[in-house]
Amino acid sequence: MNKFDTIIIGAGPAGLFAAIHCKNKSVAVLEKNSLPGRKLLISGSGRCNVTHYGDVSNFFSHYGEHSKFLRTALHSFTNLDLIDFLAQRGLAAIVDKNGKIFPQSGNSNDVLKLLLDECHLKMVQIIVDQPVLKIEKPADCFIIKTATHEYHCNKIVIATGGMSYPGTGSSGDGYYFAKEFGHSVVPPKPALSPVFIRDYKMAEIAGVSIQEKLVYLYRDNKKISEHRGDIGFTHKGLSGPGILDFSREMQSQDVLKINLVGQNSDEFRKAFIEASEKSGKMAIQTFLKKHDLPRSLVRILLAGLRIDPEQTLASINRETRNLLVDSFCECPFIIERVGGFNMAMVTKGGISLEEISSKTLESKLVPGLFFAGEVMDIDGDTGGYNLQVAFSTGYLVAESINRERR
Ligand SMILES: Cc1cc2nc3c(=O)[nH]c(=O)nc-3n(C[C@H](O)[C@H](O)[C@H](O)COP(=O)(O)OP(=O)(O)OC[C@H]3O[C@@H](n4cnc5c(N)ncnc54)[C@H](O)[C@@H]3O)c2cc1C
Repeated sequence: MNKFDTIIIGAGPAGLFAAIHCKNKSVAVLEKNSLPGRKLLISGSGRCNVTHYGDVSNFFSHYGEHSKFLRTALHSFTNLDLIDFLAQRGLAAIVDKNGKIFPQSGNSNDVLKLLLDECHLKMVQIIVDQPVLKIEKPADCFIIKTATHEYHCNKIVIATGGMSYPGTGSSGDGYYFAKEFGHSVVPPKPALSPVFIRDYKMAEIAGVSIQEKLVYLYRDNKKISEHRGDIGFTHKGLSGPGILDFSREMQSQDVLKINLVGQNSDEFRKAFIEASEKSGKMAIQTFLKKHDLPRSLVRILLAGLRIDPEQTLASINRETRNLLVDSFCECPFIIERVGGFNMAMVTKGGISLEEISSKTLESKLVPGLFFAGEVMDIDGDTGGYNLQVAFSTGYLVAESINRERR
């Protein structure tokens, strides 16, 4: 019999969490892949940064303009609830120096196993190798078609994820299903993505990172935004939380200007002149040392200005000094392109929140149709904010379905 009270499409963290908390008699999860949770397994470089430390009220600044929509979901099942949920099932959590929370084992397999064990305990049927192709609702019940089977249910949850890392199974199918039911979809874009830089000069320091730097974003010579965070140099461009979290605002031809020294141009110039007057024989690289920049980075920047690192401050003329100030206070990088869906950690855009109730996550257009996780137009910063959304929205969907039973 392929009839269930509730069917969830997608066995990612959102779908599995909804299944675990759904109290209907018969619950099934249909998964396209032969294994559930493939993206969860690669999350946090295989360590799975499940959530973030601190009061949940601090989460709301990490989802751009969509924070308000998440109020009920995040309060229904907070980061502390998640830590507790995992701990009660034998998986302790640890917090790193940046507030990211990981399973103590440092292994995403343990998180997935815990979710699957819990599904098993709750008698949820996870049916793999079932890519859903079509969903219909001719009358009261939903009919779900895969290549080989037809399933019927009263409540349906679309938890098919976004479009990033499509090899994991999330390739945007949920948008099509939602559109068929009259929902609108905000055009999906890659987010939390590294950027490729034109005429990149930093390849030789790939792997080096700098902490808590202010980055300005320029478009058509106008500053349009700024963001602070850690930045990593890659073989072809920039990455790290300070770039990834900011990438949703970037587009090709934009210019990033990084303040490397924590002082604006006037302050840095003044400090340079004062040091030059006081200790003219000081080498430029010694002067720059107090800014705690990687030596390799300083050397590349000085080489670009044709300055010998041993050159004394007094020997640097005004013109060169101005170039140096520009280079260290607004170090420019022209964006060739922002990494695509194959490199983006999440998707910006998705099923529009306009037609979904934030209190229940039920469609405002089709009764019995629910949404959970990244398939909706929600994307968060790095640091565990996206998985927390998957868990919190999965939980809220289940609670909403449970409420309708009573
Ligand atoms: C490399 C990488 C690292 C990440 N690290 C972190 C991290 O450390 N912390 C964090 O908070 N976030 C992280 N994220 C983001 C996070 O993994 C996602 O936001 C989260 O997995 C979304 O959960 P979801 O359940 O909504 O969707 P998904 O995890 O994408 O799951 C959707 C599921 O639906 C299935 N599916 C899709 N279409 C169909 C269909 N037609 N029929 C049946 N099944 C279907 C898919 O196969 C998939 O199993 C990372 C993402 C990536 C790519």
